[in-house]
This record gives sequence, C-alpha cells and structure tokens, in this order.
Amino acid sequence: MTSMGFQTQPKEFEYMAPANLEDASKLYLSYGEKACILAGGTDIVPLMKRGLLAPECVIDITKIPDMSYIRLEDGVLKLGALTTIEDFRESPLIEQNYPALHMASEVMGSTIIRNLATVGANICRASPASDMAPPLVVLGANLRIFGPKGVRTTPIEDFFLGFGRSEMAAGEILCEIEVPASPDKQAFMKLKRTKEDLAKINISTAFNLSDDKCSGIKIALGSVAPKVVRAEKTEKFLEGKELSEANIEEAKRIICREINPIDDVRSTAEYRMEMSKVLLGRVIRLALKGGW
Ligand SMILES: Cc1cc2nc3c(=O)[nH]c(=O)nc-3n(C[C@H](O)[C@H](O)[C@H](O)COP(=O)(O)OP(=O)(O)OC[C@H]3O[C@@H](n4cnc5c(N)ncnc54)[C@H](O)[C@@H]3O)c2cc1C
Repeated sequence: MTSMGFQTQPKEFEYMAPANLEDASKLYLSYGEKACILAGGTDIVPLMKRGLLAPECVIDITKIPDMSYIRLEDGVLKLGALTTIEDFRESPLIEQNYPALHMASEVMGSTIIRNLATVGANICRASPASDMAPPLVVLGANLRIFGPKGVRTTPIEDFFLGFGRSEMAAGEILCEIEVPASPDKQAFMKLKRTKEDLAKINISTAFNLSDDKCSGIKIALGSVAPKVVRAEKTEKFLEGKELSEANIEEAKRIICREINPIDDVRSTAEYRMEMSKVLLGRVIRLALKGGW
C-alpha cells in the first residue's frame, strides 16, 4: 500500500520474542543480516513502514528480563541497554552525577520518542547524529556485548567505524553500558532545526579542574564527520591549561582541523564548521558554570 509515495505498511516478517540473551543471540546469528533487533522501534519501525528496511525476522529483545536499569556499583554507573531516554531524563542519579548525559537526554526527540527510544539502540545504530554518543565518549564509557562467544567489553570509542557501521559482530547484542568515575565538570549542547530534530551538530566535554587548570579534558562532536569524533588535538592543546577566553579562542582554531562536516538536509558543511567553533566555547563555559 502506498500513500504520498511512501509505503505505509511493512513487508511481512517473522516476529520472535526470545526470553533470554542466549536465545536472542542464537536467533540473530542464524538469520544473520536478514534479521533485525527491535528495542523501542523508533528507528526501525519508520524505516520498515517506508519500505527502506525489510527484515525476514524481527527479534524483539524487550521481553528479556533485567535489561533496563540505572545502577551505581562501586563507583561505576551501569546502564541496561533497554533503559529508555526518558528514564535517563528522570533519573536523579544521572542528573546529579552525570550532567552531560542528563543534558543530552533533555534535548533528545519528543516525550513520545524518549519514552520508547533506548540508550543501547542509540549507540548500536552508529549514527553520527546520536545524542547519547558524545557524552558517553567523553565519559569513557565501555560497552558490554553479549554474543556467541560470551560477553566481551569494548570502549565505546572503538565501537564506531563509520556512518551506520560499528564493530558489532554477527549474533551480538549490546547488553550494558558502563561509565567509570565522573569528572567534576561536564556538559552537552546540540543545535537542531526544530525542537524535535536530529542534531545539526552536537558536542560534549568533560574534565577535572584544579587551581583553575583543566586535566583529563575530553571533547567529542557529532554530525561533523561520518562518525562521532574526539577532538584530540584540541584536547591536547587545552590539557593542563586555564580555560581562559584566549585559550578557548586558540582551541577554536584547532578544532576546525579535526572535523570534516558535509552538506545534508539538516545543515551545510560551512555552517557546521563555523558553529563547531562557537559551540566549543559555549560547551566549555557551560561545563565551567556547572550546568544551565
Ligand atoms: C521523530 C524522531 C525523532 C528522533 N529524535 C532523535 C534525537 O533527537 N536524537 C537522537 O539521537 N535520535 C533521535 N531519533 C532516533 C531514535 O529515536 C534513537 O536512535 C533511539 O535511541 C533508537 O532507539 P530504539 O530503541 O527506538 O531503536 P530501535 O529502532 O528498536 O533499534 C535501532 C537499531 O539498533 C539495533 N539495536 C537496538 N538495540 C540493540 C541492542 N541492545 N543490541 C544490538 N542491536 C540493537 C536495532 O537492530 C536497530 O538497527 C529520533 C527518531 C524519530 C523517529
């Protein structure tokens, strides 16, 4: 069936709802690329309805118990892959201790989307515009992935390979995200066309501050390259320095050499380049101020 040029019903598919990770992984492995994992469905359902994705089998992982939680264990934040973005937004633990994650959850999608969308899928789709990826990168998150060979842990930074591509192997399912100790200062900012839109650019930073000098500074940007990028040269320049206006101005010059934005429906490469500099200054000042 078509409406205004768009297919409105997905092609027929098999629906499976395994009760545990072992069964889900076996199914996913046996169907290979003909299967698709279903979490909140906010990415795949619109694609299936428009005929842009036609899996033979949809593996619904939402019936697997204990995949949605926000816990602090021995100073490590543990997030179940099926935790929704709205759960994040409402969590006092996140708001008080991981402000960059809280800020990202505040500006992601609408309430309806946030109620369905899961943090695990926001990472697994490997979109350069993912809002949860930059804060998780600057916080040094690790991903725990369940697969045919058991559970493995990988740094989130190594996970993204390119536009929509990750290092996830056949049959693997993200089960948990771990965030180590949280730096004192952190922030996230996003530019978008409308209130409920993917990012034209997003940026996050995290650092410690002692005697007005920053240490361990990390900066990550989205929508300015085929994958979320760390601004390592900019970080290296700022490391150990005061975050003065003069140093921020120099950092803005450096960050331009670390990104490779393109023109697309949401923005132009030129605008993204200019605004990356502006947002770098703003996100550092926001982190210094301790939030909005
Ligand atoms: C109107 C609208 C607005 C949006 N706004 C934003 C926004 O502001 N910011 C933003 O970042 N995104 C936005 N999105 C995109 C989307 O909501 C997010 O990417 C969301 O986090 C996807 O979560 P989900 O659980 O709904 O994913 P699903 O659609 O269920 O899955 C997405 C992909 O991830 C895979 N997957 C899911 N979970 C796992 C897992 N545990 N292990 C392995 N693979 C898995 C699936 O196979 C699928 O390919 C928007 C989408 C819509 C429709």
